[in-house]
Amino acid sequence: MPFHASVLTLYPEMFPGPLGVSLAGRALERGDWRLEARQIRDHGIGRHRTVDDTPAGGSPGMVLRPDVLAEAIDAATPDGDARPRLLMSPRGRPLDQARVREIAAGPGAVIVCGRFEGVDERVIEARALEEVSIGDYILSGGEMAALVLLDAVVRLLPGVMGNAQSGQTESFEDGLLEHPHYTRPAVWEGREIPPVLASGHHGAVERWRREAAERLTAERRPDLWARRKTTKS
Ligand code: SAH
Repeated sequence: MPFHASVLTLYPEMFPGPLGVSLAGRALERGDWRLEARQIRDHGIGRHRTVDDTPAGGSPGMVLRPDVLAEAIDAATPDGDARPRLLMSPRGRPLDQARVREIAAGPGAVIVCGRFEGVDERVIEARALEEVSIGDYILSGGEMAALVLLDAVVRLLPGVMGNAQSGQTESFEDGLLEHPHYTRPAVWEGREIPPVLASGHHGAVERWRREAAERLTAERRPDLWARRKTTKS
């Protein structure tokens, strides 16, 4: 069974969106993964299919109702569905490549996209939703965050990336940022490619890349660098 993503959203027309083109899009057409965008409003209340209401305790904005969301989740997840249930949320654990790999190795994901002020806390508890953030900034809805998560996951699925190797050497895979890249021309605006890369000496190239990656990581991401050193020894 291919990786199966079910996205619960008030804007299903945003999917597959950018995931319908390039590598992910071709893989979707081939059936290497499945994407289903489900309209939360189909489970709305009454003639107007209401999905939200005002925040308890007062404050501006609206909150997605727990009963509506729970019904949408239950309809998307038959008994025995082993997929993780994710809620895109700025309060969630920041997404990283390790979690992306875990999700890609599983049967799929059910992804709830919030809107407005967010969702009623009780449905997060009652349906054991795992809150996932894509960074410390506020989006207007969870859809773009879901697209980001799925893009990161789908490129790891078997058969999706033409050059399977390039999935292994990227930034973060070994706890480091990636080394710089160069291509032709050999000299551009007076700038040369580091000579070692043209030396044909494989070992020297590897050493240069490793050192460049370490230097970049230490300079730009002291947080990653510190974690790496403490987990290594
Ligand atoms: N009032 C909330 C923000 C709501 S933003 C707060 O301050 O925490 C509306 C919706 O956008 C959220 O429910 C969530 O689904 C999505 N969203 C916003 N920022 C996000 C982020 N950084 N990562 C993941 N989802 C996000």
